[in-house]
Amino acid sequence: MSTASHVLVVEDEPKLAAALRDYLLAAGFHVSVLHRGDAVLPWLDAHRTDAVLLDLMLPGMDGLEICRSIRRDRDLPILMLTARSEDIDRLLGLELGADDYLCKPYNLREVVLRVRAVLRRATAQPGAHPALPFTLDADRFVVRRDSRSVELTATECRLLAKLCERPGRILSRAQLVTAVYGDDHDVSERAIDSHVKNLRRKLESLELAVIDAVYGAGFRLDV
Ligand code: CA
Repeated sequence: MSTASHVLVVEDEPKLAAALRDYLLAAGFHVSVLHRGDAVLPWLDAHRTDAVLLDLMLPGMDGLEICRSIRRDRDLPILMLTARSEDIDRLLGLELGADDYLCKPYNLREVVLRVRAVLRRATAQPGAHPALPFTLDADRFVVRRDSRSVELTATECRLLAKLCERPGRILSRAQLVTAVYGDDHDVSERAIDSHVKNLRRKLESLELAVIDAVYGAGFRLDV
């Protein structure tokens, strides 16, 4: 990035907030820190920022409400920080529109990588879906790229179709199970992992490395 991006950190635990600030500063970002949820929206009205790292549990106004409110008015990447991995499935189900999720305790280096990734996607595709580098023929269960193609199973085809609906956004294993098997099917979420693994292998035969595994959260199409 040629000019330093500005990241707003919203975290009420002072030590954690300071650690995030120091790490992001060291990585070359401009950083502002807020400790209260109710300070966020007034701050955003008065300042410019490129991304928000948003804790879920905050005094004054919680992260859910803040996230919804930001999404209503602004096109600003949001990375949600949660205390428990179970929260991520719940948050994904709420379709808040956060761009990424990280579960505590997180690795600070991972936070920096994720912030860079949401900024990269935000600048690469302002408001628009990117063109996919392949076509999915969902009737024939075939993925085509240029003159080459690979056949999928019905399950892999439904998985890929679901991921293609919203490139860049994470889908949890629970959401993928529902998309592939329907609501009332008793399938382990881990079963999705083996289908994704096979799907990735087939896509890689077309030199398509387009499915990201997002640790603790799920999968996304990154094109
Ligand atoms: Ca908190």
